[in-house]
Amino acid sequence: MTDKKVTRIGVLTSGGDAPGMNAAVRAVVRTGIYHGLEVFAVMRGYQGMIENDIVKMESRSVANIIQRGGTILKTARSKEFFTPEGRKKAYENLKSHGIDGLIVIGGDGSFNGALKFSQEFDIPCIGLPGTIDKDIAGSDFTIGFDTAVNTAISAIDKIRDTADAHDRLFIIEVMGRDAGYIALHSGVATGAEHVLIPEHKTDIDEVINSLQEKEKRKKLMNLIVVAEGDEFGGGEQVTKYIKEKLPNADIKITVLGHIQRGGSPTCADRILASRMGYHAVLCLMEGRNNVMVGIVNDQMHYTPLVKAVKAKQQIDEDWFDMIKILAS
Ligand code: ATP
Repeated sequence: MTDKKVTRIGVLTSGGDAPGMNAAVRAVVRTGIYHGLEVFAVMRGYQGMIENDIVKMESRSVANIIQRGGTILKTARSKEFFTPEGRKKAYENLKSHGIDGLIVIGGDGSFNGALKFSQEFDIPCIGLPGTIDKDIAGSDFTIGFDTAVNTAISAIDKIRDTADAHDRLFIIEVMGRDAGYIALHSGVATGAEHVLIPEHKTDIDEVINSLQEKEKRKKLMNLIVVAEGDEFGGGEQVTKYIKEKLPNADIKITVLGHIQRGGSPTCADRILASRMGYHAVLCLMEGRNNVMVGIVNDQMHYTPLVKAVKAKQQIDEDWFDMIKILAS
């Protein structure tokens, strides 16, 4: 907590983009202005902070963006921000605009950056979890996850149609280098027979046995959803292995890729982002520092950034028993 009152705040989006970031920016800008603060957009994440790419925002600057994917502030990954010199430059630029509070919308990497920055300099930082991966503890959902999962679902539903028509086994790779939530949720919601994610050890031979058993009873249409970061190295590797073991099966692979990042945010993401953006400004006004704004059980929840970057959400093994039973 700090006693100093903020008067000018900055907002930036950093790391991977996520649908709903714009809704969060809109909420920050309008809440700040409503409370008499001046609000500045820092463009291109920490890189824009270092390059002094900072623009004053008005209420109308965020008109017509709540429904748009991507981020109007642009996002970037900044190598220079890892260095003390880079962060010092960033600090001097914020100071030259009189900015005395910062809201960072991004994933755990961006929070690590915010943590370092606010420990070195007298600018309080508030984090908003903006990542399609949902791999941050301290919030039930992160901005962008719901949209990404719904995009994956609508693609997998289409694949199911053609898989069913041809009695094929489809392997679908979804995003998630370190986290399997997109795979888990989209797999369950599309009735996939198997879901392979980094957080859960898969017995691949059990998967093969189950496919052979299904083949015997003429259930030939099967979906396997794989997170790109699963232990086998993603969909291509899984496909290769299964093809070797089941040479007669008709197997296809689809990698969904970046479509999962784009598109208009869902209602859930717009509301989550609006609530988080609104509360982030209140946090700065109340003198909070170094916390992430989250929502747990529909209540606002504040987690120290130092904890948010370390802890991951836990995936209950029960999910996998359920997948097996529902896909039998
Ligand atoms: P996503 O989860 O979508 O990948 P992210 O926020 O985790 O998003 P990163 O690329 O990990 O994305 O981090 C974004 C930026 O945050 C980095 O490019 C860097 O500028 C800054 N950053 C990350 N870690 C640190 C750190 N330890 N020290 C200083 N800056 C950091």
